[in-house]
Amino acid sequence: MKNIVLFVAVACASAFGRPASAHEAHEHGTARLNLSVEGQRVEIKLETPLANLISFEHAPSTDAQKKEVRDMAAALHKADTLFIFPAEARCRLEKVSLESEVLSADLLAAAGASAGLAGKDAIHKGASHKDAAEKAPAGGKEEGGETHADLDAEITFLCDNSENLKRIEVRMFAQFPDLREIEVQTVTPGRQGAAELTPQSNVIGW
Ligand SMILES: [Zn+2]
Repeated sequence: MKNIVLFVAVACASAFGRPASAHEAHEHGTARLNLSVEGQRVEIKLETPLANLISFEHAPSTDAQKKEVRDMAAALHKADTLFIFPAEARCRLEKVSLESEVLSADLLAAAGASAGLAGKDAIHKGASHKDAAEKAPAGGKEEGGETHADLDAEITFLCDNSENLKRIEVRMFAQFPDLREIEVQTVTPGRQGAAELTPQSNVIGW
């Protein structure tokens, strides 16, 4: 399994030699996370190859694949089990928006939520993502016969005592075993930082 994943990662990286800025960061096994803390608001923006979360990177065509997407979305909507805040910060999950160029808002919506709302609100403003969506409206980016696609998640927590918030434990690795590294950028009051999380080192601190 490991060899296969490595091969795919290499294929991925080389397939996109220069062009799509959107996919410069598309490396299987690795995700990027931007964390910002401002006032009571904690924003987490996660950008990851779909392959880190499910077993394919295209629109689902079978019931089993649709179920895989729904299960993945359900896990991400329970973001307060993936991002663990210190109790004294008194944080609660406010909102989760999921977006992927190959997955319908319907499949990505929280269970029981109306599909219509997820769409517009969740549009990722990042230029790179927009670029990808424009170039490949009907599916993932296809080059050399392979299709690749990302998932973007925007997760908001509100913390009553955000001044007591100095660390967040990230439990995504346990939920998504194909995810092996998260490159983190943090913007917290008065400072910026960067970190690399792995299953062995899964706490963002500042
Ligand atoms: Zn890929």
